[in-house]
Amino acid sequence: MKTENEYLKGVMERVIERNRNEPEFHQAVEEVLESIEPVLERRPEFIRMGIVEAIVEPERIIKFRVPWVDDDGVVHINRGFRVQFNSAIGPYKGGLRFHPSVYEGIIKFLGFEQIFKNSLTGLPIGGAKGGSDFDPKGKSDMEVMRFCQSFMTELSKHIGSNTDVPAGDIGVGAREIGYMFGQYKRIRNGFTGVLTGKGLNYGGSLVRTQATGYGLCYFTEEMLNDNGKSFKGSTVSVSGSGNVAIYAAEKAVQMGARVVTVSDSDGYIYDEKGIDIELVKKIKEVKRGRIKEYLEAHSDALYVPDCRKIWEVKCDIALPCATENELNVEAAEKLHKNGCFAVSEGANMPCEPSAISYFLENGILFGPAKAANAGGVATSALEMTQNSLRYSWDFEKVDGMLKDIMKNIYKNAAGAAKDYGRQGNLVVGANIAGFLKVADTMLSQGTV
Ligand code: NDP
Repeated sequence: MKTENEYLKGVMERVIERNRNEPEFHQAVEEVLESIEPVLERRPEFIRMGIVEAIVEPERIIKFRVPWVDDDGVVHINRGFRVQFNSAIGPYKGGLRFHPSVYEGIIKFLGFEQIFKNSLTGLPIGGAKGGSDFDPKGKSDMEVMRFCQSFMTELSKHIGSNTDVPAGDIGVGAREIGYMFGQYKRIRNGFTGVLTGKGLNYGGSLVRTQATGYGLCYFTEEMLNDNGKSFKGSTVSVSGSGNVAIYAAEKAVQMGARVVTVSDSDGYIYDEKGIDIELVKKIKEVKRGRIKEYLEAHSDALYVPDCRKIWEVKCDIALPCATENELNVEAAEKLHKNGCFAVSEGANMPCEPSAISYFLENGILFGPAKAANAGGVATSALEMTQNSLRYSWDFEKVDGMLKDIMKNIYKNAAGAAKDYGRQGNLVVGANIAGFLKVADTMLSQGTV
């Protein structure tokens, strides 16, 4: 841990001790604890009142069995999770991830990050995350429906529009949200905004589909402009080809960039002319196919069957939008050597700590996930507002609000970094700005 502060080192040791074999959670906590060291010097009451120890401990962890039947009549058992991490500033809010790699440590890391991200949006939402080790890949629609219904049968006991409002994440898109919403409605006999990312016919918000990717570009453009640069005329490398990646690529192009890569967990596509985003939407959103199929329409593009090599491609701006720890220090060095001047995180924790240090030490502009990808949850909170009003705003209105929120997040993160003597370090700035609001609120609500 990069601190001499004995108190923080002690908190970190207890986190490791209590949450054994959960390296992703340790990584997420360590980064925040390192960042808030100067805050504790100014605000010793956070130590006296146990705020730091409380913030690293989830308010509640729910873990449950999810039985479901496949198309051949065979029963399968998966595991479901919901980590309700912090409700100081609003109802728990955070996505659900369906992926075979999901276990308690992944959900804790995501839930912990979500506390500060949600705080940064300026909207009244607490932090949570959930999911299952279920793999939707290769499953029929009916299998996915039966799984989602079984998952919601248990989860419905723990959520509610004023308690906890889940959304999507990896493996959970409009289809899964629809099945889960339907099941919640049946069980509770109530039509409430209990999930976000809903279809437009039943309470969804315009822009929610695009929000994380668009928001990433709005945030990144602020960071670039503040440093005399812009998306306009730049070459951009995007990883992933899911919800975040597709709409980050689309907005970057609208802002005047050329996006040359997309990927999935099998490999990446390099298309020098610029990625055909409508085709990627067809392959991934409609056919649920593999990114390699891109070559069927663009035989002049290149497919490399190793997704981690994507950062060897020459670019000005890199937008990692796939998954955690997808970009290590070797990749960071390659990006730098190839002239990349900015990296902004669309995925959660995609850059390893050593890669982040490398970017900061070598003057590469770096937008951390907590701040840069907060547009999705911010728009989810706008969906909650519209549900409460029983009204829908038009695309321009929601998009305008998203843009303002992302600009504000940049301003607040950059401002906090400057205020605490770490100008330009948005990692520290985002952590401090996100932490302060939650910590002050916990203090005012009483911790014991
Ligand atoms: P999706 O399920 O829509 O897409 C994930 C994409 O990443 C898929 O293309 C997947 O490919 C790919 N992928 C997974 N692992 C790897 C890997 N190791 N290398 C390359 N590609 C990989 O998820 P989202 O787009 O929703 O989420 C992506 C990231 O963004 C996650 O970190 C998520 O937590 C974060 N995020 C999402 C938000 C949202 O609103 N959706 C909000 C904020 C953050 P494959 O099909 O092969 O698995």
